[in-house]
Amino acid sequence: MTAKLINGTEIREEILKEIEAEVKEIKEKHGKVPGLVTILVGENPASVSYVTLKIQTAHRLGFHEVQDSQPGDISEEALLALIDKYNKDDAINGILVQLPLPKHIDEKKVINAIDPDKDVDGFHPVNVGRLMIGGSELKFPPCTPAGIQELIVRTGVETSGAEVVVVGRSNIVGKPIANMMLQKGKGANSTVTLVHTGTKDLEGHCKRADILIVAAGVPGLVKPEWIKPGACVIDVGVNRVGEKISEKTGKKVAILRGDVDFDAAKEIAGSITPVPGGVGPMTITMLMKNTLKSLKVKLGIA
Ligand code: NAD
Repeated sequence: MTAKLINGTEIREEILKEIEAEVKEIKEKHGKVPGLVTILVGENPASVSYVTLKIQTAHRLGFHEVQDSQPGDISEEALLALIDKYNKDDAINGILVQLPLPKHIDEKKVINAIDPDKDVDGFHPVNVGRLMIGGSELKFPPCTPAGIQELIVRTGVETSGAEVVVVGRSNIVGKPIANMMLQKGKGANSTVTLVHTGTKDLEGHCKRADILIVAAGVPGLVKPEWIKPGACVIDVGVNRVGEKISEKTGKKVAILRGDVDFDAAKEIAGSITPVPGGVGPMTITMLMKNTLKSLKVKLGIA
């Protein structure tokens, strides 16, 4: 059996086109566009490249985008004051503070300072609570879990009544996606099991999964024999396992592997995400969707 490949790059393009069309329509009818500010502290190369991609995507979609770069030694007080400024800025619907922050700044304090109605990353405790309650309370699902759910739905996988097993209990992937899949509603209504480092029989749980979502950060953790024939496998893991010279650019690039043994798993699963090119492209896309939603809520058209 060869699984259907869940192509995150193609699905991303589909969603970005939908967002672009909606932005145009709202601009014509209401004279407003979504506004996103990304706050970058310091010059961590990975953070710089993430923020650049976010801003480029926002620009492509016709958003009002602001990149606010601050020196690595900015005080916590000054950063909190900056967030307060954007909380009060009417042209800004989404505030994203690129993590990690330098050690002298308390990340929790910073996240808690963002207006929950502009917290498009969905990390503020108010939005974590809204996610837990679900239904119409849910405002901004965190971007990677939201991307995972979109991939499952757009692949046409039945979630209602499905056995979903999530590997990993992080606050940014495992816990929120488990909560989202158990809600009563479209793309969810599943029976969810969350497994982690304290779980006794990881293999036994994985073998029951109609939908297996793996976010452990351990290359090749899930063996092909752990996969139920025909299951939908979502591999969130992005693990650097070495380096190679890119054929395109001639530069050194990282060799990336997921948490699932892809080559063997694709012969058993019904559908599967590759790494890279599966979940990865979805995260920024869902950030854009959340920012658009923030504007729609403000305009009363969500
Ligand atoms: P994390 O390290 O915060 O959490 C990993 C979780 O996996 C932990 O809760 C741990 O209990 C569990 N775990 C680890 N080893 C295990 C094992 N042997 N058995 C059972 N459970 C185990 O990681 P995270 O932030 O959730 O990220 C997980 C992976 O997903 C990483 O590879 C990360 O790079 C990737 N990731 C990708 C995206 C994206 O593609 N956009 C976004 C976020 C994270």
